[in-house]
Amino acid sequence: MNKVFGTMPNGEICHLYTLRAGKLTAEISDLGATLVRLWVPDAQGNVADVVLGYDSPDGYLESKTYFGATVGRNANRLAGSCFVLNGKTWTLDANEGPNNLHSGPCGYNIRLWDVYSHEEDRIVLHLHSPHGDQGFPGNADIFVTYLLESDGIRITYDAVSDQDTLFNLTNHSYFNLAGHQNQEKAMEQELIMPARFFNPDDAANIPTGELRSVEGTPMDFRSPKALSRDIGMDYEPLHLQGGYDHNFEVFCNPAAILTDPHSGRQMAVYTDCPGIQVYSGNFTEGDGKDGVVYEKRCGVALETQFYPDAVHHPHWPQPFIKAGKPYHSETKYRFSW
Ligand code: BGC
Repeated sequence: MNKVFGTMPNGEICHLYTLRAGKLTAEISDLGATLVRLWVPDAQGNVADVVLGYDSPDGYLESKTYFGATVGRNANRLAGSCFVLNGKTWTLDANEGPNNLHSGPCGYNIRLWDVYSHEEDRIVLHLHSPHGDQGFPGNADIFVTYLLESDGIRITYDAVSDQDTLFNLTNHSYFNLAGHQNQEKAMEQELIMPARFFNPDDAANIPTGELRSVEGTPMDFRSPKALSRDIGMDYEPLHLQGGYDHNFEVFCNPAAILTDPHSGRQMAVYTDCPGIQVYSGNFTEGDGKDGVVYEKRCGVALETQFYPDAVHHPHWPQPFIKAGKPYHSETKYRFSW
């Protein structure tokens, strides 16, 4: 089933596509290959939409929050908006001071994707990204598959380019397992992450290169704790980024488990990516779905990714891929209740 979502600036129509599996229902838009709604039950059978979002395409087109969107060709930040590949420097548009965030002003999150296929429980979206698009080398064909399973949503990224290039795609959903309108509960969600290290950033959110142990810091989530517990602590990385907005190593799977203590809904994140950005929604303010006016920190994003700015730290896993070689990456958000 699909319905009209609205109109793109060029007059094209974008849609919402419904997926169903067991007790879960999702709505995906071809605008940005975006997860717009995700309804999950609790043990009493109360269903809540657990992701933040907007009611209209304009919300997605105008905002800088990247709610639910597919981010690419490179998620997160690139220092100096450039990288070197095979001895050639590739320059992207800067959109955060001199740096590039989420691939710049013309991100995949504001494109209209083709719907390659749509069935009851899955949708495959396709985007052609030509050579030079956003400044990246290689004509690329990118497929994002959302597969709704009875216990969660699996997001798969497949891509190929005719030149050596960079792929680092992620989904930018913000979760509030209490339901997106229950904003005051968002930071009460408890997080467990086995990560032993995180990347401290400079004041421009660019990793310094250090991999710092979480031991004895507010960044230690190896035992469950509410997001709010340590977020106000006097700790430089929290001051610099205005809350949690850091990459952590994916030490093992699940990379993270988020629990809403009120409803009992739980979400485990499984991924083949080396890193996960924990972003406490430090800039979520504005009009949201269902007439809700979102406040700061009304959801948490758990973005699976290569380490930010990895291209400038060659000893970290690299997002480069050879011409003709398939890129494949998968993240599952698994729910229990
Ligand atoms: C970044 C944040 C940014 C947010 C929305 C996250 O992936 O880490 O710094 O504010 O995206 O753009």
